[in-house]
Amino acid sequence: MIAYLDNAATTAVWPEVADAAAKAMVEGYFNPSARYPDAAKAAKTLSEHRATVARALGCKPSEVVFTSCGTESDNWAIRSAVELNRRKGKHIITTAIEHSAVLNVMKDLEQEGYEVTYLPANAQGTIDLDTFSAALREDTILVSMMLVNNELGTVLPVQQVAQIIKASNSPALLHCDAVQGFMKIPVTAKELGVDLMAISGHKIHAPKGIGALYIRSGLKLKPFILGGGQESGLRSGTEPTAQIAALAKACELGMARRDADIAHMQELKEYTLRRIREELPQIVPVVLGDAPHVLALTMVGYKSEVLVRVLGDAGICVSAGSACHRGTPSHVYAALGLDKAHREGAFRVSFCGDSTQEEVDALIDGLKRAGELLFPSMS
Ligand code: PLP
Repeated sequence: MIAYLDNAATTAVWPEVADAAAKAMVEGYFNPSARYPDAAKAAKTLSEHRATVARALGCKPSEVVFTSCGTESDNWAIRSAVELNRRKGKHIITTAIEHSAVLNVMKDLEQEGYEVTYLPANAQGTIDLDTFSAALREDTILVSMMLVNNELGTVLPVQQVAQIIKASNSPALLHCDAVQGFMKIPVTAKELGVDLMAISGHKIHAPKGIGALYIRSGLKLKPFILGGGQESGLRSGTEPTAQIAALAKACELGMARRDADIAHMQELKEYTLRRIREELPQIVPVVLGDAPHVLALTMVGYKSEVLVRVLGDAGICVSAGSACHRGTPSHVYAALGLDKAHREGAFRVSFCGDSTQEEVDALIDGLKRAGELLFPSMS
């Protein structure tokens, strides 16, 4: 049995989602821009899929643009917001715990002469609103804040930040990287009050290679890719109809089970934590975030990289920090001010709606066995 507890890295594609993609490829393969009836049908299907994704995001279909992934959505949102507001200032606010899909764009913008304020994380792994208010200026043109941190599972105060911006004299646009929060935190783009919001298919049981960007209507962004004028002229290129069909199916199925999935993941998280506290006291939470699917733990003084490899050999999949860092030290743990011992021992367990108690039991057994193997002095 595989115990797959790395759902924040990616999720298994649901069979119905794969079927929807296969159908789009094999039966509905027509180019939606072509002029015969089957192509018109493909175009109609495409707009139905856009409407389904829009329902899940809580917005109008015209506010959804399909992209290739969360990283592309983040890059585009940040670049275009800065371009749109370029005459209003050169100051940007983000957080020290964003994903590299945001942070690396910020580094580029700094090279280009923009001033970027990186809000520090507090001890709870989130952002203090006072610190944000103090950083907001009349020349702040963009605020980029994630909804859920991928390594910690903490929820950031995006909604409150939107209200503070609205009440201020700042022209700042608000971008939210909701790649980890979408379908896990029951909130819509409108309720959050954001201008731009990025999501990714492969975190919600659709395949890799599809994402979307919510663009608040009225926001006139510059096209990201020029060409044949697809996606309202904003992102040209023949639409990836199979991936879009898959994303729409994942949204449709996901919405129907979202609240039950959230409750289930929360229960599993609490069960995992209870068993760890009772049976493996050498493992402690890094912080306890409110997102239902991510549990950040650390085995102080031991290298989680080794632990994760030993667990992996036993078919138990968790990650040492974020999979996106590929072995380099995590900026998120550093931003949290964790000492070296806590940082090196950190690993992440993450759930989806299909995760089971048996998988958690396998993890606990695996951790005990790994402990005996790697650290005999601890048992
Ligand atoms: N933002 C966050 C918070 C993520 O967790 C990830 C992926 O792990 C991304 C962005 C990038 O998304 P994608 O893998 O679709 O490019």
